[in-house]
Amino acid sequence: MSTVVAIDGPAGAGKSTVARLVAERLNYAYINTGSLYRALAYAATAAGVPFSEIDQNFLNSCQLEFRGADLYCNGKLLSAELRAPECARGASVISANPLVRDYLMPVQRNSANGQWIVMEGRDIGTVVFPDAEKKFFVTASAEERARRRMLQGEAGADFAAILADIKARDERDTNRAVAPLKQAPDAELVDTTGMDINEVVEYICSRCR
Ligand code: C5P
Repeated sequence: MSTVVAIDGPAGAGKSTVARLVAERLNYAYINTGSLYRALAYAATAAGVPFSEIDQNFLNSCQLEFRGADLYCNGKLLSAELRAPECARGASVISANPLVRDYLMPVQRNSANGQWIVMEGRDIGTVVFPDAEKKFFVTASAEERARRRMLQGEAGADFAAILADIKARDERDTNRAVAPLKQAPDAELVDTTGMDINEVVEYICSRCR
């Protein structure tokens, strides 16, 4: 068993907030793997490399490293820039590239480093840590996720546009050939529609103790 609590689920289900608070509450480390995909999308855009042309050479030029929960690319701390909607969309596009997924596999596995850790993403319980100690698949209806995104003000657009964006990402994440978004057979489904963040955190922590 890996000393990992895997929290997977679709975009906008509140995974990041939940995973961070669960980690804090249990005194575990926390890793957000979506930020790795976002960082590569950001680096490609900054280098003028079209997403469809991301190859091994480009990937080798991106040295990604977690220091705690902070992500550095070639020694530069990336944070607010990764939350831009273009970055999220770019991450979703490039994450279908098997070279990208292979490149990020050891970064994710090494970041656990034998410590207790809460790791969130799409394929943590299915592919990255299939032997995780605990697995949760956190989801909510697309409408509820769009409402939450609206409240966070992330996309800065109207409700219909946010909902369409969420559905497009669900579609890409669920239907890609490599490591698609799906619930691991041994993961517990947590449908957070109608639950507030505290209830979800409390529930997951209670299942981890
Ligand atoms: O979680 P977040 O929204 O930051 O992830 C951005 C994108 O990165 C997702 O839409 C998904 O396509 C990709 N991703 C992934 N596998 C992960 C984490 C994120 O494919 N483990």
